[in-house]
Amino acid sequence: MIERREFYINGTWVAPVTPRDYQVINPSTAEPCAVISLGSAADTNAAVAAAKAAFPAWAATPPQTRLAYVEAILVQYHKHEEAMAQAISLEMGAPIDMSRTDQAPCLPWHLENFVTAFKEMHWLKPLGVHAPQDRLSYEPIGVVGLITPWNWPMNQVTLKVIPALLAGCACILKPSEEAPLSSLLFAQFVHDAGVPEGVFNLVNGDGLGVGTQLSTHEDVEMISFTGSTRAGKAISVAAAGTLKRVCLELGGKGANLVFADADEKAVARSVRLMMNNSGQSCNAPSRMLVERSAYDRAVEVAAKTAAAIEVGPADQPGRHIGPVVNERQYEQIQSYIQKGIDEGARLVAGGLGRPNGFNCGYYVKPTIFADVIPGMTIEREEIFGPVMVIMPFDSEEEALRLANDTPYGLTNYVQTNNGARRNRVALGLRSGMVQMNMTSREAGSPFGGVKASGRAREGGMFGLEEFLEVKAISGWDPSSE
Ligand code: NAD
Repeated sequence: MIERREFYINGTWVAPVTPRDYQVINPSTAEPCAVISLGSAADTNAAVAAAKAAFPAWAATPPQTRLAYVEAILVQYHKHEEAMAQAISLEMGAPIDMSRTDQAPCLPWHLENFVTAFKEMHWLKPLGVHAPQDRLSYEPIGVVGLITPWNWPMNQVTLKVIPALLAGCACILKPSEEAPLSSLLFAQFVHDAGVPEGVFNLVNGDGLGVGTQLSTHEDVEMISFTGSTRAGKAISVAAAGTLKRVCLELGGKGANLVFADADEKAVARSVRLMMNNSGQSCNAPSRMLVERSAYDRAVEVAAKTAAAIEVGPADQPGRHIGPVVNERQYEQIQSYIQKGIDEGARLVAGGLGRPNGFNCGYYVKPTIFADVIPGMTIEREEIFGPVMVIMPFDSEEEALRLANDTPYGLTNYVQTNNGARRNRVALGLRSGMVQMNMTSREAGSPFGGVKASGRAREGGMFGLEEFLEVKAISGWDPSSE
């Protein structure tokens, strides 16, 4: 059993003020694999005090020096990338090969994209040619609290910690208590990179404890949060008393508009994308809308594709999907599958219970429901598991209306070989991101949503700007520059 009860505060590993053990469960076996401690207000206060003390010097550190520290974190990652892949796989159940190729490499990918953006950053710039005595100064917001989920742990940690450090902020990371091991390793990278004490701190804890203490803390200027819409609302309310900036990356219920002229592989690829990470991605294409003339064939292909996806333990090599993260999530997904059946959707793949051969661990069958009707629970709510719904549409207008009829607005998907339609539909979708014909977004493209998906933007220059304030200066003396 791994024992990691310490927090990283003011440049050193410290014991919790009041120990409160919490078991991390290996979702592949449902057995405890590690014990951490959940922090208390005394731990949070110590971390915030360290960050507050470190902030002025860090903010005044030349950008090139901050950049060098961040690049040193990347060096540490490359020394320990296998350990990172193993930690993620153990704590949240990503199959080890997927953890090596997709989960852990989120760290270098985002870090390098931030470095590119950072090199193009103008910290002081003119307002415009019409205003020769005006300048805009970009300045770090201050002490920031970073709260992350378990589903893509290093993705979210990197998307927050790296821009915070580059911007000149001092931070306190509270990773998910379900998946703290990768963040503990990350904290060691920061330490070994020599980042000055107090600039980065990590306190483990739960939402009601450390999460709320950070959200309400008067010395924390900003909360950057990724997680559920429920917690995002709670944080907004908690943060209101101190008027801090709140950046929220929340849930999703992505529509995937498949037109009859789409590539013949579009449906199978969409199903595999949906089931990747066992369906635990906020941007999963979980609602497939198919043009009626292609509907029956799409249902057939989707069912066959889902049935062919293997499920297995995280430590087994291969391209299977792993278990879902914990018992609560497993039970919740089962109850959604039951609701789908009860509300009359047609189950064409998967269904209730564990796949054959499993009697423990949080394994869910890749599940597809067809003939889903707008308003059914499985059509409205984020399931966050390997469950996809399919419904037909008769026209482009109807497809857009169905796609936009959701509280969420993170990523929508479009599959059609008609370029003019693709462009038109992309502009008509209400979401922070639109991905068409399985083309990935390029480096530096902002990740974020609208409506109940939150309104933050992470990654590249947009992600850097979230951690900055703009100061407007007039009466500047250009001759003294
Ligand atoms: P969660 O909201 O339960 O927990 C996320 C984090 O918030 C954890 O660290 C948790 O301890 C903390 N937390 C919980 N309640 C809190 C509170 N009241 N105050 C402060 N902190 C609190 O979410 P989860 O189950 O870890 O993750 C799954 C959710 O995250 C899904 O809804 C998914 O869509 C969303 N997600 C969104 C994105 C995105 O970029 N939009 C990315 C990944 C995951």
